[in-house]
Amino acid sequence: VRFSPVQVTDVLKEIMPIIQNEALLHNVQVRFRGGREFPQVMADSELLKQVFLNLCKNAIEAMGDGGVLTIRIKVLKQTDKLAVEVQDTGPGIPAYAKEKIFDPFFTTKENGTGLGLSVCQRILQDIGGDIHVSSKEMGTTFSVLLPHLVD
Ligand code: ADP
Ligand code: MG
Repeated sequence: VRFSPVQVTDVLKEIMPIIQNEALLHNVQVRFRGGREFPQVMADSELLKQVFLNLCKNAIEAMGDGGVLTIRIKVLKQTDKLAVEVQDTGPGIPAYAKEKIFDPFFTTKENGTGLGLSVCQRILQDIGGDIHVSSKEMGTTFSVLLPHLVD
């Protein structure tokens, strides 16, 4: 793995065609504004792509047919963290599954591997980042926290 300063908006822009294509197949509308620049993060951009692809794929799969996928980037004040939120309008995560979703091989899908989120967590740990989930009856938001460089 090669760590270098990465602009998260660029990473997201690069995977947008794949996400848009997947979204189209599931009637999902994608909301993402990649316009402005944010502080850079130290990461391997290929691995970051994998994190966001996994989260967006899960979001689209959760919605089944129709919904909105929203991706937001925020600079968290008073910290050195950037937050990337991946939000869907799916059915949420059932209570019994909440503490298991990051476990390797935990899946609720017929053809799922259950590896997506555990891989995300591992990749983020390696760059001093973190991942959180918040889920309600009408939708789930995964927040990826990434330490950013000072600019
Ligand atoms: P897989 O996608 O192969 O099932 P993951 O590790 O990516 O494996 O996800 C594990 C489980 O977490 C999924 O099977 C699903 O139950 C739950 N999950 C993940 N993302 C979402 C989401 N956006 N909405 C609802 N459930 C989710
Ligand atoms: Mg998955």
